[in-house]
Amino acid sequence: MSFVVTIDGPSGAGKSSVAKSLAERLGIRCLDTGAIYRSVAYVLDKRGFSPTEEKRVADAVASLSVRILPEGIFVDGEDVTTAIRTPYVDSIVSAWARLGVVRSGLLALQREQAKYGSLVAEGRDMGSVVFPAADVRFFLTASSEARAERRHRELLERGESVSCEDVRVRLNERDRADSERELAPLKEPEGAIRIDTSLMEKEDVINELLLIVRRQCPIQDNAGGTNK
Ligand code: C5P
Repeated sequence: MSFVVTIDGPSGAGKSSVAKSLAERLGIRCLDTGAIYRSVAYVLDKRGFSPTEEKRVADAVASLSVRILPEGIFVDGEDVTTAIRTPYVDSIVSAWARLGVVRSGLLALQREQAKYGSLVAEGRDMGSVVFPAADVRFFLTASSEARAERRHRELLERGESVSCEDVRVRLNERDRADSERELAPLKEPEGAIRIDTSLMEKEDVINELLLIVRRQCPIQDNAGGTNK
């Protein structure tokens, strides 16, 4: 029997790495929906579209082939896995993600992922819109300082040279845009388990989530039985 775990929260709360490790430990798939929005924003921007032309954008989104494979994310055959992780894509993605035509165009693709087995899905509207009937819904958050520090470290490791203060300002801008948009805004889903990761080590966050998931989901044990 398969199950879905959702993890929502603002940028830099640690969702992506926690979701990935949690899925690995459970032996199930991980769906990074931020990567889907980033891919669409990156490709449409590169092809000269603007988020103000909703009709053209709707047609373009409908004709895009977005494939999520274990080795990366591909749009119309192009591997965009690395290209979507730049500060430039950080700065444009929210303007695309607020469009109804983009969100509705990507809904089926996201829901479809649960058809292939159990899933850890992370993003902004996983527990509220995409998988409202998920078995466990988490909301991961952290102070603005802790989130900026983590994101800053990530960017430095990738060779980008930016100041931590710049990162903090841009992160806050993106979160405000994501929280204030009309459709599927970033918000804590009703009934979600809230975890503040500001002062926690990544490993402790994963263990806490793992404990809850093992308690609440129909996980197969080695003997082939389930815990439900
Ligand atoms: O998680 P990540 O920072 O990669 O997400 C990039 C952007 O994609 C977010 O800032 C948000 O605008 C959008 N997004 C969204 N809904 C999701 C996941 C991401 O609108 N479920």
